[in-house]
Amino acid sequence: MIVMKFGGSSLASSEAIRRVASIVAERLPRRPVVVVSAMGKTTDRLLEAADLAAAGRRAEALRLVGELEEFHLREGHPCSGRTEELFAELTELIRGLAVIGELTPRTIDAVSSYGERLSSMIVAEKFRAAGIDAAQADSRELLVTDSRHTAAAPIFEETYGRIGARIPPLLAGHDAVVMGGFIARSRQGVTTTLGRGGSDFTASIVGAALDAEEIQIWTDVDGMLTSDPRLVEGVHRVKVISFDEAAELAYFGARVLHPATLIPAIEKNIPVRILNSYRPQAEGTRIVAERVPCRNIVKAISSKHGITIVNIRSTRMLGAHGFLRRIFEIFDRHRTSVDMVSTSEVSVSATIDDARALAAIKADLEEFSTVEIESDQAIVCVVGDNIRHTPGIAGRLFRALNGINIRMISQGASLLNMGFVVAGSDVKRALQALHTEFFSDLDPAVFDRLR
Ligand code: ASP
Repeated sequence: MIVMKFGGSSLASSEAIRRVASIVAERLPRRPVVVVSAMGKTTDRLLEAADLAAAGRRAEALRLVGELEEFHLREGHPCSGRTEELFAELTELIRGLAVIGELTPRTIDAVSSYGERLSSMIVAEKFRAAGIDAAQADSRELLVTDSRHTAAAPIFEETYGRIGARIPPLLAGHDAVVMGGFIARSRQGVTTTLGRGGSDFTASIVGAALDAEEIQIWTDVDGMLTSDPRLVEGVHRVKVISFDEAAELAYFGARVLHPATLIPAIEKNIPVRILNSYRPQAEGTRIVAERVPCRNIVKAISSKHGITIVNIRSTRMLGAHGFLRRIFEIFDRHRTSVDMVSTSEVSVSATIDDARALAAIKADLEEFSTVEIESDQAIVCVVGDNIRHTPGIAGRLFRALNGINIRMISQGASLLNMGFVVAGSDVKRALQALHTEFFSDLDPAVFDRLR
């Protein structure tokens, strides 16, 4: 069997869902389990409605929910099933939030779960209307997580057990099974979610549980590219990439995959393929467990924008121990994760993505050090397995960046990436320069020129 995951952009309209149905219909002999995201931008809208309600802006919140209902009824037509019923429930929930005026992670999950509950129901019905005998499974009965709402971690053994017990009999009696991504339940039976973009994770978990022959992630692009086409001219498609390389890319800004997605698939050695639902004939990108031999040193260059550098200086650091622990405890206390770190004898620089707690972090750090903040920075990361085997890469890289000021440098322990930070205003120039340096000559076994 195969797992086919369709993202929100592949399900943004009635026509898009019909396109998805025809893609699935052609693959019925491979026994597909179809994992769907919420339709279009539904999750964003649901979260907005919850925020508005909790802020006491009840009428605006209810209007937003009304618009979402209209969208689902229109694009789901005539297969909208229990849409009205689900929206009646959701409306109750939003009204309650407006009364209480408080939003907890648990309620956020309750609200955001409606996106995938609706989409899985509508997509299953649309499939049936298109002649596919599709069964719908409630993911909340299959995926068991801890109670860390909005970013819950699956309890794998139980989850695999449930999926293994429930899905094969459904597949035996039907052409395909449709289930929502992203949503799950805690052991206490409360609805949880796997974090934004979590449907890829669901697909990978289902694939691992069922030992799928392949996990297909259907999006609206032709797979992984050598760099972001909005920033770089002349990018190429990467035909095949290793799990390790893809994970580094996902972590440092490549949007195509949720970073944690790949772990269950890697553990079971299941190939993952990224495909374009708007161009199903395109070959996409294959992500495989083994190393991918390649003539090019670099497979792709990613970038992550809106980064803040926190420079921490203290003469007390000189020869002292426990200094880093003190620093990281502060980031931890403010629930802020650090992406990149570089240290010298008297200073530490750390980059953060989420600057919401910056003022509080700075105040705490200033109790024992001098802190300087640089906002609007970008991390650029070159990734490729050959980086670890090829001497002189750093030299080539920095020469290519000729004149662009580099703020921080780091090479991960995996040795297959090299990352550095530049000012946001320099990132485009840096990406283009590196792309020209590393991709002017292409290994045709690994790359394909984009048409
Ligand atoms: N609908 C969820 C989100 O937008 C999960 C997903 O699409 O992967 O984050």
